[in-house]
Amino acid sequence: MMPLLRKVLAASIAATIVWVAPTAVSALPTDESGSSSDADAATTTAAAAGNGPADHVVFFALDGFDIEYLDLVRSGEAPMPNLQRLLRQGSVTTSTGTMTSITNPSWSSVATGAWPETHRNTAYWFNTETNTARGQQRDLAVPTIAQSVREQGGTVFSSQWFILQNYGVTFGDPDGLYTQPGGDCARRTDDAVAVLRGEPVSSGGQMVATNGIPELMTVYCDTLDAIGHEGGDIDPRIPATLTELDRQLGRIVEATKDAGIYRRTAFVVTGDHGMTTFDKGFAAEGLAAIEAAGFTPQVLTSGQSPAPGTDVAIVVGGVADVRIVGERAGDRAAVGQLKAALEGLPQVRNVFDKSDQARMHMSPNYGDLIVEPKPGWSFGATPAGPVGRHGATTELRVPLVLTGAGVRPNVHPWRPRHIDIAPTISALLGYAPPSGSEGRVLRESLRR
Ligand SMILES: [Zn+2]
Repeated sequence: MMPLLRKVLAASIAATIVWVAPTAVSALPTDESGSSSDADAATTTAAAAGNGPADHVVFFALDGFDIEYLDLVRSGEAPMPNLQRLLRQGSVTTSTGTMTSITNPSWSSVATGAWPETHRNTAYWFNTETNTARGQQRDLAVPTIAQSVREQGGTVFSSQWFILQNYGVTFGDPDGLYTQPGGDCARRTDDAVAVLRGEPVSSGGQMVATNGIPELMTVYCDTLDAIGHEGGDIDPRIPATLTELDRQLGRIVEATKDAGIYRRTAFVVTGDHGMTTFDKGFAAEGLAAIEAAGFTPQVLTSGQSPAPGTDVAIVVGGVADVRIVGERAGDRAAVGQLKAALEGLPQVRNVFDKSDQARMHMSPNYGDLIVEPKPGWSFGATPAGPVGRHGATTELRVPLVLTGAGVRPNVHPWRPRHIDIAPTISALLGYAPPSGSEGRVLRESLRR
């Protein structure tokens, strides 16, 4: 089982990752030498409302940025020269996401600083109130960092980091501007570069200029996730994609230099979840095991309701949300039987009951059991070739880059998590964290 071995190895290595800049990078000139336009250029920006060690934070949100991809950077297979240059003033380390490791709930934790049990954004679950399966959605029970910064007098811009849309940024608002340019990462970066130049951007169909350079600027790119789903975390296009994303990061850095804010800008780069390759499905075996335990299961896709007679509703999205419905709903003995049947499957890595889910601060919207496949497997059909999935605890680890203004060079934050990002960005800008935040400021990595 190569994929499994690879994951286990990666998990143990990732826990102790310390980025050592390759010697070739040490030979590069420092950023200061190349940023003469930076000095005393404060006049080009709006007065910062926050009083933190950074006047601006650029947040580069990379969907599906698996921690293992850093191995490709270290080996030289995927050069990321702009990132490596930035790291001279900061660090890269392994950050831990939240369960389930699905895009919307994961970015929700990054954006709010809250666990899924608090922000309540849930994906691929069965809603007993509407009697339907649900896919991904944008609901949030607590404010995002964009709302928080805005409420404290700050300004925000989001190029397609959709999780903030209408939660602190919106179309047409020059103090909290959202743009959804579509297209590739270059197109999304275009909007951020334009904002840094003080140029208007298309926001929901109208051209809008921000009021000065926003304090928090976010750019979202999902190329890695798309490729990872198509070909798994071993897809041969991944190295070139990493280098292309680095090129876009470099454009943003250059634009901050041109705008004269580079030395007062912190850069934060992270992912929402990793990616695991699978080439085998065990839906047939899984349903047979549930039937053998005396149940009538049904796999539901978003919007579907169970057929009459169904007593186990299953919604698959990386992991499988499994809930007993009908007359036996809430029957603890029945849940125990179901759990034993699922744990007996050789393709299953973990079965998390409600107490396991609570321990992981998961959304209470999930059902009785969350079934996590072993790497290589999916609770679905067998695909034509290797493809990728995420949602399990095997996809929780992502890189976290903290660098630039207000960040201590070469000081790795201690066990950073998704929920620590919003408090830390808030501290960099000198704001209180979002009100629902449960993470901590990664103070060990910040300048006093
Ligand atoms: Zn995905």
